[in-house]
Amino acid sequence: MNAAATNFERVAIIGLGLIGGSIGLAVRDHLPGVTTTGYDADPAVRKRAQERGLADTIYESASEAVHRADLVILCVPVGAMGEVAREIAPALAKGVLISDVGSSKQTVADALRAALPGREVIPAHPVAGTENSGPDAGFAQLFQQRWCIVTPPEGADPVQVSRLVSFWEALGAMVDTMDPQHHDLVLAVTSHIPHLIAYTIVGTASDLEDVTRSEVIKYSAGGFRDFTRIAASDPTMWRDVFLNNRDAVLVMLKRLLDDIGGMQKAIEESDGTALFDRFTRTRAIRRSIVALGQDDARPDFGRKDHDNG
Ligand code: NAP
Repeated sequence: MNAAATNFERVAIIGLGLIGGSIGLAVRDHLPGVTTTGYDADPAVRKRAQERGLADTIYESASEAVHRADLVILCVPVGAMGEVAREIAPALAKGVLISDVGSSKQTVADALRAALPGREVIPAHPVAGTENSGPDAGFAQLFQQRWCIVTPPEGADPVQVSRLVSFWEALGAMVDTMDPQHHDLVLAVTSHIPHLIAYTIVGTASDLEDVTRSEVIKYSAGGFRDFTRIAASDPTMWRDVFLNNRDAVLVMLKRLLDDIGGMQKAIEESDGTALFDRFTRTRAIRRSIVALGQDDARPDFGRKDHDNG
């Protein structure tokens, strides 16, 4: 796809870590006519971004980076979105579209709207990522065959919505639109609660008294290892996600705790049928995810050494 297909000529990326860097690299590969500018608050990140070519030009301030952009994408932690929006507000060009990639949408939409009155703001969330962060983590293919959820506010200009949809499609993503509250509920159960479980179980295992930390690490292949991957995710990003998607996470957490209670009861009562039924249902969910091309069907996610216990 070329620049004409998305109608954007100059894309500013604020925050040059995993997601911002991947957008820059994907634009370079898929939209060669589009110019990118970038800024990150951390001078070391800006230097590395320059070396890796995460944007065509890296600026020393967010205002300079957005100056002539017709699309600005905020790729900073959710808790920093409002502050960045206030910083760039006076420097924005007429007619610019402002979007973001934050993992929660309602509070981000509110913060951006408050900081950018009268501006066209259309939030989005590429549901793609890894446990790595920073300017070395980004890669051009990150969004290939992954969903990007666009959450247009009421009254959003449909032309601008479709420009943003085309932009994400050009980077290889499949796009859905949703209202922000629904996005937050869906992501609470598909992403935020799984991270909460991983952070909890890895913390619990490392705090146990009767199993040593070295035993936990040594025998980690027994399921624990997959939790450690998720629990290695960026602490700032995830702190902000839980603080910003508080209500939806608490709703889903209550539901999960009820279900854990059900599992506890089934084990206490030696109710093998209840356990078997639940495990059969969950296996079917895994198979549908693989069938939809959203994960690797090979055993152990295609890892080379199959040492799972
Ligand atoms: P990341 O790799 O840590 O990159 C974020 C970058 O933004 C960091 O370099 C950070 O610098 C910089 N930054 C922080 N505050 C800033 C500010 N005020 N102005 C300019 N730059 C600032 O994080 P990421 O994984 O790319 O996540 C970025 C956003 O994408 C988050 O909102 C997250 O919720 C969302 N997201 C993440 C994933 C994922 O899997 N990681 C997936 C989808 C969406 P410092 O390190 O110095 O703070």
